[in-house]
Amino acid sequence: MMNNENINFIEAKSKLNWDEYFMLQAMIAAFKSKDPATKVGSVFVDQNNHQITMGYNGFIAGIDETKLPWGKDRSVGLEHQKYGYVVHSEANAILHATRSLEGAKAYVTLFPCNECAKLIASSKVKEVIFLSDKHRDTEENRIAKKIFELSGVSYRKLDFRPEILGHLVEHLNSQLVEL
Ligand SMILES: [Zn+2]
Repeated sequence: MMNNENINFIEAKSKLNWDEYFMLQAMIAAFKSKDPATKVGSVFVDQNNHQITMGYNGFIAGIDETKLPWGKDRSVGLEHQKYGYVVHSEANAILHATRSLEGAKAYVTLFPCNECAKLIASSKVKEVIFLSDKHRDTEENRIAKKIFELSGVSYRKLDFRPEILGHLVEHLNSQLVEL
């Protein structure tokens, strides 16, 4: 016969680990980006796994976006390319942080460019966890890695378990059941 004290002790386990949880948050932040070509998201987290700030790539806050180009055709001047006006996800997150990022972890869907690496290292972030490093052969990427190595920011690729997405869709559908 079962001991009454054990009746409600059911083995309960989250389907997500913290790395996957925050990378999903970064992926959802990226989903909010209006950039038709590249959507990037980032989430900065403290040592207790509490989120400090988030960001996605977008035009300057408060600007009339209808007056700016989203195209990336480099055959015209920078003035007529999105690159002249877009703020990267990491820069947006750092700009909007309301407390220190010292010792924080940064979850990014795409490995940071050299400009964002400067901001990340200067903010004393200690670790960058990324999903994709598709620009790894570019000069910007090499500079970013050099900045991280020289400033003691470690970085690692997250091996995101694809089955998480199936669990997530199932979970989201269960949340919508009353609608
Ligand atoms: Zn950047």
